[in-house]
Amino acid sequence: MLITPLQLVDEPLQIDEAIAPGTLEYAADLRQVGPLPVKGQAELLIEHRGSHNHINDIRVRAEYHGEFEVLCARCVEPVSIPVAGEFDLIFRPESADAESGERAITADETEIGYYSENGLLLEDVVREQVLLSLPSRTLCKPDCKGLCPRCGQNLNVGSCNCGDAPADPRWNALAGLADKLVN
Ligand SMILES: [Zn+2]
Ligand SMILES: [Zn+2]
Repeated sequence: MLITPLQLVDEPLQIDEAIAPGTLEYAADLRQVGPLPVKGQAELLIEHRGSHNHINDIRVRAEYHGEFEVLCARCVEPVSIPVAGEFDLIFRPESADAESGERAITADETEIGYYSENGLLLEDVVREQVLLSLPSRTLCKPDCKGLCPRCGQNLNVGSCNCGDAPADPRWNALAGLADKLVN
């Protein structure tokens, strides 16, 4: 859904979209499962810079919620996680600050995003918000045993024989060294 200032001149634009799974590429280990509903509104905020210069900012407020699948940080099995959030963001035309030459960014403005000449793509905004709202690391369960570092067996599913097998000779050498150090 492309939002342009022209659409917002008369009145705010109601947003009631459902982003289909597969529309957005999030990250290698993150997949959207099912539609992602987004509801809210976009409105025009006119910034006056001097008497003749005004800038069409777009303010977007919306909430979204959906089901995602992320890979467990230890065993790399897919884990379902619900993701929900809301945002209230202001977007300024990219050209506005480039042309003025003086790009005065105050503390309040750090939250300001930019939109290109064509307009603001709602999907881009939602994608970024989803990525920001995710936990940095997800486990399938708090005590996930992970994968065997040698054979790759998922240790939640079953054990492997690596523990019983003779260790790699290189580790034997190190173990011998440790014995010598102790004695
Ligand atoms: Zn796991
Ligand atoms: Zn193993």
